[in-house]
Amino acid sequence: MRAALQSEIGQDKLEVVDDMQAVGFGPGKVRIRIRATGLCHSDLSAMSGVLPQPAPFVPGHEGSGVITDVGDGVTGHAVGDRVLVCWLPPCGHCPSCRRGQGHLCLEAFGNVATPNFKRGDGDVFGFAGTGTFSEEMVVPAACAVPIPDDLPFDIAALIGCGVTTGLGAAVNTAEVQAGSSVAVIGCGGVGISVIQGAKVQGAAQIIAVDPVESRREAALRFGATEAVSPEEFADAKNRITAGEGFDYVFEVVGTSATAQKAYEMTRRGGSVVVVGAGALDDNFQVNMFSLFFDEKKILPSMYGGGDVLRSYERTIALWRAGRIDLANLITHRVSLAEVNDALDQMRTGVALRTCIEL
Ligand SMILES: [Zn+2]
Ligand SMILES: [Zn+2]
Repeated sequence: MRAALQSEIGQDKLEVVDDMQAVGFGPGKVRIRIRATGLCHSDLSAMSGVLPQPAPFVPGHEGSGVITDVGDGVTGHAVGDRVLVCWLPPCGHCPSCRRGQGHLCLEAFGNVATPNFKRGDGDVFGFAGTGTFSEEMVVPAACAVPIPDDLPFDIAALIGCGVTTGLGAAVNTAEVQAGSSVAVIGCGGVGISVIQGAKVQGAAQIIAVDPVESRREAALRFGATEAVSPEEFADAKNRITAGEGFDYVFEVVGTSATAQKAYEMTRRGGSVVVVGAGALDDNFQVNMFSLFFDEKKILPSMYGGGDVLRSYERTIALWRAGRIDLANLITHRVSLAEVNDALDQMRTGVALRTCIEL
């Protein structure tokens, strides 16, 4: 079957091959025929080595498809079920899950170090234990979350990572208060989802900050009340918050520089919400006096910062009610053969989300 392959960390192009095999099917597993996958910024970060990932590997962790095989002992799944791929499924019984923090469950994280594919005799890993840039994938049943019939595959794929991450940061992690002021640094698919989450929560001002003009325009269409370039951010803060700083600043880039900027633009007692996935050697610094005296809350938000399955359900309910727009998050569509175009669209910032249809 066909898949996009990254042979070595650091290569900036993927090779589309047609001799990949999805391996590991057996008890507790399901086989999925992937139908749609989004390109998330984390895929690029894994390719470049910013995020740790063994190679060779098949990128992609935001996908959806149809179950074609069900392993022994799997209950609640049947052949023909439409599903989205959850790259970090809560196990339900570890200490994190018992505390209601299923998004911190590490039970399935072992999948990362288990090859999901084979090409010839060689093992091939799947990014984040999945690897959705492939026609077929074998995953633990918990990674396949059934979706309702009215949810299209392309939108379902996005709910598997980017949308859940952004919406959850605003709703679960920050618990944005009605009437508050919000700034969002980085307005790709995840940042736009933060903006939609802040809007759903009733924020009065939502300022989008991004160097790319098309993204600023998009942010306004999705609910930002104003969109500025990074150079205009400080002026906007002074004008909108009378110099005090925003109630919430979301960092959706994943660098210490933007996190530091977010900290600076947050009012005393406000919340800095870190959504971007950054590198192991990139350190965020804050001096001890400010940390104490300014009482700014630093709130990291991983995968939506809450019960992942509950987050999916909420997203689907909001989408169905027309309260959030997910269809227009997909600005580009390509086939798997054109996967490198998708990478370029993400790198240059022209795409909010590119959907790869399989
Ligand atoms: Zn768990
Ligand atoms: Zn992602």
